[in-house]
Amino acid sequence: MADSKPRILRYGMAAVAEAAARITAGEPVAVPTETVYGLAADATNAQAVARIYAAKGRPSFNPLIVHVADLAAAEALAVFDADARLLAERFWPGPLTLVLPLRVGAPIASLVTAGLTTVALRVPRHRAMQAVLAASGRPLAAPSANASNGISPTRAEHVAASLGTRIGLILDDGATDAGLESTILAGRTLLRPGPIGIGALPWPVKRREEHATVTAPGQLTTHYAPTKPLRLNALAAEDDEWLIGFGAIRGNESLSTRGDVVEAAAGLFDALHRADAGPASRIAVAPIPSDGVGEAINDRLTRAAHR
Ligand code: AMP
Ligand code: MG
Repeated sequence: MADSKPRILRYGMAAVAEAAARITAGEPVAVPTETVYGLAADATNAQAVARIYAAKGRPSFNPLIVHVADLAAAEALAVFDADARLLAERFWPGPLTLVLPLRVGAPIASLVTAGLTTVALRVPRHRAMQAVLAASGRPLAAPSANASNGISPTRAEHVAASLGTRIGLILDDGATDAGLESTILAGRTLLRPGPIGIGALPWPVKRREEHATVTAPGQLTTHYAPTKPLRLNALAAEDDEWLIGFGAIRGNESLSTRGDVVEAAAGLFDALHRADAGPASRIAVAPIPSDGVGEAINDRLTRAAHR
């Protein structure tokens, strides 16, 4: 993370080149889209994605929207059915996000999907985001570029005021058009209303009930949690436990042997999946300090433990 003031560069070749260089080096960069300014990081790099959370100070992990250059790039990452292809052809590039099954082997960091087997994809229209996608050649995970609980930024100055020294570069291309986050669809269910109204869609959609509980496989779920019992703040493994370590507590594997919460966040969902698939019948996790992105790790672990 940057510790001096962020550079604010006006949109142009130099700004795009610098944004792409920082992104390929694993740094998040603020980039405008037609909805709001996004804090964009390489979606294939778990540590880069963890730095989004660190910069925003988000107290929990939500799956992030992945921005790609075009439908072909999207189809390399997710499986499209006929409905999804129709929507993509009609509304992309534009402020519509589709939640789709992640293609097996797609190089998206599990922190991006918060461990889910679905991925939220969007092809943005904005020239700055399109230019950064082209120059970096990476799919870009990008939530709004504001500190957690802040208002979504529609100008570079809003980003600077909210994230200040926590990021190194803001690409400034003036005010965004929509000023409203993208419409999100999962199949024919509306997960979030947005600039594309449901009346414009080719068929009726149902609204997602708030806090809907998952009752059957295949139903919508916003968060991955392991199926095995999970014990927190474990100092040592008990009988038939797979211990996920941190710092001095080594365990069967470690989220970060050097006790770095950003590294731990980057590997959290992969570690949970391995533990879930592994030979032990229960999972234990070493204590994680709640500083910085550690708060989001503990939020996720606490929810997974109390299911
Ligand atoms: P933001 O990045 O802050 O604009 O928020 C992204 C939104 O997309 C959140 O409401 C997420 O819950 C939702 N989202 C992203 N990926 C998925 C997914 N795989 N399944 C369901 N919802 C998703
Ligand atoms: Mg936001």
